[in-house]
Amino acid sequence: MDFSFTEQQQAFRTMVRTFFESDSVQAQLHQIKQRPEEYDARSIYRLMGEQGLLAANWPTELGGQGRTMLESAIVAEEMSRYGIPEALQVISVQIVGMLLFLSASEEQKKRYLLPMARGEEFACVLYTEPRAGSDLGSLETRAERQEDGTYAIYGRKVYSMKTHLTDYGLCAARTSNKGSKYEGLTLFMLPLRQEGVSLQPIDSMADESFYQVLLDGARVDADAIIGDLDGAWSLINKALAVERTGLDYYVRAQRWFDMIWDQAMNSGQIEDDTTLIELARLSSKLDASRFMTYRVLEQLQKGAVEEVVAATSKWYASELACEVVFTGTELRGFEACMADGHGYSDLYGSLEAAYRETPGLTISAGSSEMMLETIAQMGLMGNR
Ligand SMILES: Cc1cc2nc3c(=O)[nH]c(=O)nc-3n(C[C@H](O)[C@H](O)[C@H](O)COP(=O)(O)OP(=O)(O)OC[C@H]3O[C@@H](n4cnc5c(N)ncnc54)[C@H](O)[C@@H]3O)c2cc1C
Repeated sequence: MDFSFTEQQQAFRTMVRTFFESDSVQAQLHQIKQRPEEYDARSIYRLMGEQGLLAANWPTELGGQGRTMLESAIVAEEMSRYGIPEALQVISVQIVGMLLFLSASEEQKKRYLLPMARGEEFACVLYTEPRAGSDLGSLETRAERQEDGTYAIYGRKVYSMKTHLTDYGLCAARTSNKGSKYEGLTLFMLPLRQEGVSLQPIDSMADESFYQVLLDGARVDADAIIGDLDGAWSLINKALAVERTGLDYYVRAQRWFDMIWDQAMNSGQIEDDTTLIELARLSSKLDASRFMTYRVLEQLQKGAVEEVVAATSKWYASELACEVVFTGTELRGFEACMADGHGYSDLYGSLEAAYRETPGLTISAGSSEMMLETIAQMGLMGNR
């Protein structure tokens, strides 16, 4: 596999950097950093959408630039490098949008993807419930078909992120009790701005809150069903593989590493051999993580991701992010990290905020234990 960048990819990266350095993006970024607790980067996403950069790998008729997955990873890398909050873009475009791109009907793609790629509408993920996380087959939210053909959804979803900024939730619900617990599940693009949907923040150790979403008869049309009625289990697994490229985990790890490196250079700590060796070791692991991510993206580009390859990349990148941040905190000293402030207060964010955010990376989109189980069963034991 050749992972060196082509001239075209390098030219694209230069173009993306020029765009992120433009006055219009920098002015919006400045405003976002005045409110570090909210991380609402939708104004920048809209500017990206105008350039076809928010979903660069989607075709132009769906608001993208028809680029490759690797080129869209270049956009993600540069967003992170310029300190542009990425969470909502990851959830809405890279996770929900990408699943629709791979699995929705042509009509659904036109309806949902164009406004998403333009940064005009956003979507969140509504899978997890109080009694269904790793074991999603146990979910209890139910969708009841009404006489007029619509569905009414009842249930409680938890740990949803960026929900307050979104227009739709990709919601997994039970539409039938027949068969095993993996049968009778359906995925809906549920409009969130309606009666029957209420949001409540759930505090988190990290800067950003989770949301609990209470669904009390929330209505959704039958044509908002993604994939087959009662047959969502294989689609949910496909969606989880799409979430596990490792990309958004490795770009954060790289951003935090860059911050630690800069601090070590500025303080002269880099002169110390032990520090230098430690940082060189992390830097090599980051390269490995990037290559694993690119391998998953290459598979995604071809349309089929091997679950075990994605699980390996996600596990490695999220655990590495913890290692980077914990090492950085030890090198810098915890008190000095606390004095740096919170959130996106400088270009890369603060190490103190990263320290509270990284453990969540080993849980979201499947915990490290679940990734190891997939690797053991599908990779090591050959049970594919
Ligand atoms: C930062 C973050 C963002 C998130 N964003 C979203 C979102 O946008 N939308 C959404 O729907 N959900 C979201 N989640 C929820 C996430 O998907 C769940 O937290 C995750 O699937 C784990 O489920 P759980 O919390 O119920 O833990 P559980 O499944 O109860 O697991 C608890 C512990 O038991 C371990 N465990 C469970 N089963 C096994 C097993 N078979 N073998 C070994 N160990 C096991 C787990 O590894 C974990 O350590 C987010 C979570 C985090 C941390």
